[in-house]
Amino acid sequence: MNTRKQNGFSRPYHPFQIATWLMSLFLVAVAILITLILETSLQIVFSLLFWPAQILYWILGVLATCSDPTDPLVYQQEYAINNGLSFDERNREAVCTICSFYVAGNSKHCGYCNRCVSDFDHHCKWLNNCIGGKNYKLFIYLIVVLEINGLIFIIFGLYTIIDRYSYQETKEKWIDIYGETGEQVIDAFIFFQTSISLAVFLANGKLIIFHIWLRSNGMTTYDYICQMRKKNKIMSHTEATSGEKADVNSNRSNEEISPRNHYPETKTLIGTSEELKIVEGATMRPSDTDSFENHKNLSG
Ligand SMILES: [Zn+2]
Ligand SMILES: [Zn+2]
Repeated sequence: MNTRKQNGFSRPYHPFQIATWLMSLFLVAVAILITLILETSLQIVFSLLFWPAQILYWILGVLATCSDPTDPLVYQQEYAINNGLSFDERNREAVCTICSFYVAGNSKHCGYCNRCVSDFDHHCKWLNNCIGGKNYKLFIYLIVVLEINGLIFIIFGLYTIIDRYSYQETKEKWIDIYGETGEQVIDAFIFFQTSISLAVFLANGKLIIFHIWLRSNGMTTYDYICQMRKKNKIMSHTEATSGEKADVNSNRSNEEISPRNHYPETKTLIGTSEELKIVEGATMRPSDTDSFENHKNLSG
């Protein structure tokens, strides 16, 4: 069995997580280039806006990755076992059938991290960590700061590109400083990074709107996935009972994107020591992601 992940810095690292940090470093490198190109007054404005947002983004990124959203009951039981103590019976709210720990009723087992997370929302590949009750606010602050930082970069990136293509003297100034080849490379870097930032800004904006919508409906991402799963179940049941002829190929593709495949069901026992009930739980696999587009795709 896989060892339990403590936080997003526990191995194995996810390729998306490494890509995030590399992209962030590239963004900073291009931001330095833009700073050098801008005239003094704009240099100051850009620096005062970009750097505080960028540094805050890094701090929040590290904090969200470091955070451990594991259900505290798991640690209480481990402490009791290691010290030969008995576990408080009153905490027997539910039991995870995968890790066998007593957990809170709202905990879910993340298959990728192999642990139960209280107030589970989703597993984030970009942070290589679960998002639950303990770090949900950090996650929201992080994506909001990412959005603000992206907007600042896009405004100045676009300004630099427009200035470079609109005024011959700007182009000549660049060539004077960096030479013909250097000017072309810098131009390509700024254009590339501005395009990436724009794509991230739009995707992340959707994610923020999705989470605002979730919270206004009193739901977590996981609740949303469960709701979509139920909807799909009802739809497939209706199709089966309506006597429609099954199309083998289309059924196969529906199965591939079915939420059930990404979130296989397990059973969690819940109740007191005398009276245990069975409720639906879930395991998440490494393929799960936090992108809004993916959730939409999962819904079929
Ligand atoms: Zn578990
Ligand atoms: Zn996880």
